[in-house]
Amino acid sequence: PRVTGADADAIERSVEAALRPRSLDEFVGQQTVRDQLALVLRAAVRRGGSADHILLSGPPGLGKTTLAMIVAGELGASLRVTSGPAIQHAGDLAAILSSLDEGDILFVDEIHRLARPVEEMLYLAMEDFRVDVVVGKGPGATSIPLTLPAFTVVGATTRAGLLPAPLRDRFGFTAHLDFYEAADLARIIARSAGLLALDVDADAASEIASRSRGTPRIANRLLRRVRDWAEIHGSGKGDLAAARAALTVYEVDDRGLDRLDRAVLGALCTRFGGGPVGLSTLAVSVGEEPQTVEEVAEPFLVREGLMTRTPRGRVATPEAWVHMGLTPPANGAS
Ligand code: ADP
Repeated sequence: PRVTGADADAIERSVEAALRPRSLDEFVGQQTVRDQLALVLRAAVRRGGSADHILLSGPPGLGKTTLAMIVAGELGASLRVTSGPAIQHAGDLAAILSSLDEGDILFVDEIHRLARPVEEMLYLAMEDFRVDVVVGKGPGATSIPLTLPAFTVVGATTRAGLLPAPLRDRFGFTAHLDFYEAADLARIIARSAGLLALDVDADAASEIASRSRGTPRIANRLLRRVRDWAEIHGSGKGDLAAARAALTVYEVDDRGLDRLDRAVLGALCTRFGGGPVGLSTLAVSVGEEPQTVEEVAEPFLVREGLMTRTPRGRVATPEAWVHMGLTPPANGAS
């Protein structure tokens, strides 16, 4: 059968779920966050109560959802999963909150995208374990206070800066996940290869790691593409030649830039003379949503020293021109 859009996504998600670490010990890298979280969890278990609310921030694919699941697992709690865009009205949130049991974990992905009234209800609930449910409309509407069991919110966001202070202040523990070192990614790849029963040698693992944009999700995805290549064209073994060949097919360059990264840099250099150019203009020129460019491509390009963000807009660094095989303008714009 032909696998198209939604089915293909579902397959990717289920493979991803199979590769998720189940405990803090299996979670590779992010030593500081791991140590801090271990302490928060141990203290909560010791007190026999629920844990403080936890906020996890950082670019997509770095392990926020995984950590939320680990938190629930280590506390022996049930996990409810939702996301900012999925909760349209305060009433939807009230329904979720009133179905929680003592000690439950509520994972709210993309928490910066909650609508204002929902957000207000959430931070009051986080503070007092209470919500006011409004019943009816107009002059006859009444507000019924509802007491909630003590629960823990684990919020995830790619943009901690967008959270309003009253919501941010309700989190007792905040952790920022940063891009992973290549050595940690190589360990993640070796672990995933084991779970996928794929023979990957150390050279291949570090080659894939160095092209994974510091991101475990991408490392796992590229590993599966290498497996595909090895099964079809190679010996079935994940060696360096298979890794290089597969990554070339999937347009991942030697620094890990993918098609979107290269499109953004290419447009910045060739259409806008290296910048500065505003985010939305840049996004339109590569046919993407500004949010995708800002949250997916930019953090990596900035970290790699290929782009800078200035008050007047995005600017390509001299290194970006070189990486794209272009000649920087003679006046040295950067
Ligand atoms: P996020 O919620 O930040 O977008 P996820 O938690 O969904 O990211 O992680 C994406 C994938 O990367 C998961 O399949 C998970 O297996 C893997 N992953 C993330 N962080 C780690 C880690 N520290 N160690 C091993 N695998 C990880």
